[in-house]
Amino acid sequence: VFNFSAGPAMLPPAVMLRAQNELINWRDGGTSVMEISHRGKDFVEMAEKSEQDLRDLMAVPDDYKVLFMQGGGRGQFAAVPLNISSSNETSLHMVTGSWSKGAVSEANKFNNAVVIGETTQREGKAFVPQPEPSDIDQRAAYLHFCPNETVDGIAFDWLPESGDVPLVADMSSTILSQPIDVSRYGIIYAGAQKNIGPSGLAVVIVHESLLGKAQSVTPSFMDYTQTADNNSMYNTPPTFSWYLAGLVFEWLKEEGGVEEIARRNNHKAQLLYNAIDQSDFYRSQVHSACRSKMNVPFQLAEPSLDDKFLSMADEAGLKALKGHRFVGGMRASIYNAMPVEGVQALVDFMSEFERTHG
Ligand code: PLP
Repeated sequence: VFNFSAGPAMLPPAVMLRAQNELINWRDGGTSVMEISHRGKDFVEMAEKSEQDLRDLMAVPDDYKVLFMQGGGRGQFAAVPLNISSSNETSLHMVTGSWSKGAVSEANKFNNAVVIGETTQREGKAFVPQPEPSDIDQRAAYLHFCPNETVDGIAFDWLPESGDVPLVADMSSTILSQPIDVSRYGIIYAGAQKNIGPSGLAVVIVHESLLGKAQSVTPSFMDYTQTADNNSMYNTPPTFSWYLAGLVFEWLKEEGGVEEIARRNNHKAQLLYNAIDQSDFYRSQVHSACRSKMNVPFQLAEPSLDDKFLSMADEAGLKALKGHRFVGGMRASIYNAMPVEGVQALVDFMSEFERTHG
């Protein structure tokens, strides 16, 4: 079975097997990692190692804090404005899909959120233009964007020229999929349930200069400074999720790190987009310059065949290909854990389905 779910998404089989083996007897202690104190030596050691592994994988500079928080991606839609803007300050937003749109309405509860750029159409397909430097008010507290829109399959790999305004990126569906220069960002955050581990957890990488600015109403457990000062244990952390994230980081290091996984991700995405582009039976609505390598929505030229495609794919072991209800059609999410064999199986299935139904 190959699981193309957008999230919670498939995790590396090697990690799941290890977690299964360790489930009731972690570190030969005779208990599960879920059943021990987060303040105990074993858990603290695990937590420190997982942070270090993530720092190594992403080459996080020393003047950034790495936080393991609760509340997933949407939790950060609120935590970011609460932590780094005051209620009368402005936050700037690029809206390129469903998630960056959601971040605007949440931020607007806590500051003055302003949209400075949106997806447009180019050659009949979704395209993200770069904002003009003149659109970026240098008094703004930050500029928020989502480099990979999970629902829409829209991505871009350039950074907005924001001058002195800190960049805040929602990397929920792209973190650890390719090398990035962390020093260009004020904050990177990600809900865990795609390339990191189980849902509920969020990883936040925040430059130290942005600490100590939280609004006084910020709930303590959402406060970056409180979280950093308490090594992400101000309240009891989601211990199992953190442990599993640690296993995923170890796995990624063993696989050759982010450079190697990016090579594989490029290959997988190319395989799938080639299959879509080479056929009139399948279509992509996203411009070739803005196509996600993690989430690949595609449509059948004949939408009345959608249900048949999905049920036959499911029978063939190709799971969770139904597109998001906002977009329709199909969506194949091909995160780090998806092997190239899974994408090849999908491409073969698509070709056979076209042969028999085209
Ligand atoms: N941001 C992006 C890019 C996402 O894909 C998601 C969820 O899939 C979220 C935010 C929201 O995450 P959560 O459901 O963990 O709050």
